Amino acid sequence: MPGRLVGQSVDAHGRPGYRLALQTREQHIRRDKATSNICTAQALLANMAAAYAIWHGPDGLQAIARRIHGLATRFAAGLKAAGVKTAGDAIFDTVTVTVPGKAAGIAAKAEEGGRLLRVVDANRVGISFDETSTEADLAALAALFGAAAPAEAAATLPGKPRGDGFLTQPVFHENRSETEMMRLLRRLSDKDLALDRAMIPLGSCTMKLNAAAEMQPVSWPSVANLHPFAPDAYTQGYRIMTGQLEAWLSEITGFDGVSLQPNAGSQGEYAGLLAIRRYHQSRGDTGRDVCLIPSSAHGTNPASAAMAGMAVVVVKCTEAGDIDVEDLKAKAAQFADRLAALMITYPSTHGVFEEGVKDICALIHEHGGQVYFDGANLNALVGLARPGDIGADVCHMNLHKTFCIPHGGGGPGIGPIGVKAHLKPFLPGHEAWRSGHAVSAAPYGSASILPITWMYIRMMGAAGLKQATEVAILSANYVAERLKAHYPVLYKGRGDRVAHECILDTRVLKESAGIGVEDVAKRLIDYGFHAPTMSWPVAGTLMVEPTESEPKAELDRFCEAMIAIAGEAAKVASGEWPAGDNPLANAPHTAAETLAESWSHPYSRLVAAYPAADPATAAKYWPPVSRIDNVAGDRNLVCACPPVEALAS
Ligand SMILES: *Cc1c(COP(=O)(O)O)cnc(C)c1O
Repeated sequence: MPGRLVGQSVDAHGRPGYRLALQTREQHIRRDKATSNICTAQALLANMAAAYAIWHGPDGLQAIARRIHGLATRFAAGLKAAGVKTAGDAIFDTVTVTVPGKAAGIAAKAEEGGRLLRVVDANRVGISFDETSTEADLAALAALFGAAAPAEAAATLPGKPRGDGFLTQPVFHENRSETEMMRLLRRLSDKDLALDRAMIPLGSCTMKLNAAAEMQPVSWPSVANLHPFAPDAYTQGYRIMTGQLEAWLSEITGFDGVSLQPNAGSQGEYAGLLAIRRYHQSRGDTGRDVCLIPSSAHGTNPASAAMAGMAVVVVKCTEAGDIDVEDLKAKAAQFADRLAALMITYPSTHGVFEEGVKDICALIHEHGGQVYFDGANLNALVGLARPGDIGADVCHMNLHKTFCIPHGGGGPGIGPIGVKAHLKPFLPGHEAWRSGHAVSAAPYGSASILPITWMYIRMMGAAGLKQATEVAILSANYVAERLKAHYPVLYKGRGDRVAHECILDTRVLKESAGIGVEDVAKRLIDYGFHAPTMSWPVAGTLMVEPTESEPKAELDRFCEAMIAIAGEAAKVASGEWPAGDNPLANAPHTAAETLAESWSHPYSRLVAAYPAADPATAAKYWPPVSRIDNVAGDRNLVCACPPVEALAS
């Protein structure tokens, strides 16, 4: 099951709390055994669908369905009475009408009235009703066939209507006014620690600003309400935009062609590897099925390779975090006849610009392989270097990372791929969609959010994009430099510098005070920060990526919180606070706990909740739950919400 699975767990005080289950959250653990490789899931869209169900409730949804079905059955009945043939009686919302030889003519006539019909073939048209359809639509559509729809629907829903209740949870019954709905959404957003409150230093995720001006066009009806398969005449503006975007992305990355179809970086990997496979096969090289992947790679890399039907061979990394070139040489030679591709991430997931990257690409080409470039870290390259010049044959771009599409909470993402000329015929594109090379269900994937990236590139311009990259690298190095005395920076490149992110080794606190990486991550919440990426790609570390969007004051606030946490750990190490009862072990602290009658901890309530800031002026984020039982959440994937009757009683 691609996407996210949520488990219900309990917190340290026995209250319920929800968390992403291990099974779908950290797929890098499963690597080439992964069953799901979509990291950037469609959770945001799922939430919109859930909000729709919350607003309408089961009664509302059934009323909508009945009305749609009523329109469709009245349409079919009208046609029948006029002697026009329709396919099948068991319909819900769609009627297929048989009009021998006249399908195109009828569709053209409908179009004059502003309605687009689906031309199934020369003899049939398909007509679907939905909740936006009106009585006027019904009358006009029936008239196309010389028919009139009856005023009342005779038929009932096909099959047996469900008798059992559905959507029985209270939330689907409690919000029947806009006031209540508004307050529900507000309460939910209050539980979130999002970019509108503080820096989100999630390494490899590139949680940068999604500027208001970039987001604005997404809500325009001309952008939002277009059908993915609308005829070309209706998509002129879209096609100018996608054409420009493809050209800009090609220029930025140094490739000859771009496909905007993949919906995530991982899907770009899959599409890119399929293109490589087809390329080899087109040359009669049918035995090339080995994909070399460094041990430091993101979990999606081996998962995508496995899905593309390749055999994954892992290449070692050196102590310093670089690809072990000797091991790479040995494996490239060993599998020379079978070598399909190398997947390489640059700068690496260790946050370092790997010096030998060009030689590595050349080595793979010498052995007949292709180079797949994981472009998730393009925020460290745009305007400074191009994957195409470095030696890559294919590269994906996470538009939801480097190019400003918001992706907190899981998508929707876009992961276009750029390719060199020799791979262009194997790209999934609009035409290929028809020929079977497609990787998603619409020709341009998540096209409606492309304007965000278009706006970003257009507003930044070449100089702005380059400056953003430089500031992102500068910010990461600033954080690394300020914190290195407290937390060793795990990997560094030439001149002791990192790329756009840095890995802070918190294992020093484990050794000195028994404080683990999770304690640090949870304590950061009390300080008002979302935790950085934890224990990836190295267990016991935090990967921090500040991005160019954070002002220096926010970087300082983060560094000071991390330094203060090291100070708190020192108090545990010295015995001032007991190992099992200190602000780190008990973090995060909820309002209920901090304001409770009794307080028995060896530190004050203020230290618990306001460790860094003045309570009179601080913009405090209160976590809704305290420490969550991780294992319980992985085991309890079934929603245990009480049924509405239980609440009533
Ligand atoms: C995010 C990421 C991916 C996967 O991209 P999705 O869009 O989440 O599928 C792959 N590789 C690296 C290095 C990443 O950071």
